[in-house]
Amino acid sequence: MIRFQSVSKRYDTGQEALSRVDFHIERGEMVFLTGHSGAGKSTLMKLIMLMERPTQGQIQVGGRATERIRGSAIAHYRRNIGVVFQNHQLLFDRSVFDNVALPLRVAGYHDADIGRRVRASLDKVGLLRKERQNPITLSGGEQQRVGIARAVVNKPALILADEPTGNLDPELSAEIMRLFRQFNELGMTLVIASHDIDLIGRMNKRVLSLAEGRVVAGANPNSSGRAE
Ligand code: ADP
Ligand code: ADP
Repeated sequence: MIRFQSVSKRYDTGQEALSRVDFHIERGEMVFLTGHSGAGKSTLMKLIMLMERPTQGQIQVGGRATERIRGSAIAHYRRNIGVVFQNHQLLFDRSVFDNVALPLRVAGYHDADIGRRVRASLDKVGLLRKERQNPITLSGGEQQRVGIARAVVNKPALILADEPTGNLDPELSAEIMRLFRQFNELGMTLVIASHDIDLIGRMNKRVLSLAEGRVVAGANPNSSGRAE
């Protein structure tokens, strides 16, 4: 699903955020991405999203060489990737339903399709009853679940989550991880950047570790990158 081959990223400032990074994530895997602040996790995610381009090396996603994806093809490519942020970036001037519907409206779906898909997605995260509420009236954990419903409403093959539990207490974090595991069991590939070593350890999934822009563990599906 994702293959980095000798990927380096140097920003205009001269900072090398990633140095000759090699790894492979198979379709259907759930992988945690760890490393201290500044290790290169966000840069890695941005390269997958084509928000940044590598200075060197090749990145394949879904069997495609991403360097060939340019111009208007980028928006189309991104539709197949669901993104979950720490601060969930919900819009507080509209309902839960309309927040989740946003990617479908952008993609030009018909209203009937939108209604069906948004409700299926809200049902998966247990928020169907709150579709008419403004997200500002929801708890932090519920808001994060709205963000997740929005990320999966397109049924993307790949989900990228950047510190999705960063603002949540341990119980809510575990709940979010259970949700991610369910999506994974439905066949989605997930890459989850997290600092939460305890939480990651309990999940028993591959851990891809970065340190100062290099992969230090878990580069391949069968490598021993699991947290103990
Ligand atoms: P992480 O997500 O693991 O905290 P980042 O990918 O954000 O790491 O950052 C990796 C390194 O690249 C850091 O040294 C950071 O300061 C630098 N960096 C990230 N984004 C930029 C940018 N847009 N311009 C310059 N340097 C950046
Ligand atoms: P956010 O972290 O919410 O994306 P910004 O959009 O203000 O906030 O930051 C842009 C990106 O620049 C951040 O993702 C951050 O990782 C990155 N960055 C990190 N270090 C630097 C740096 N030294 N110079 C420029 N950008 C940096």
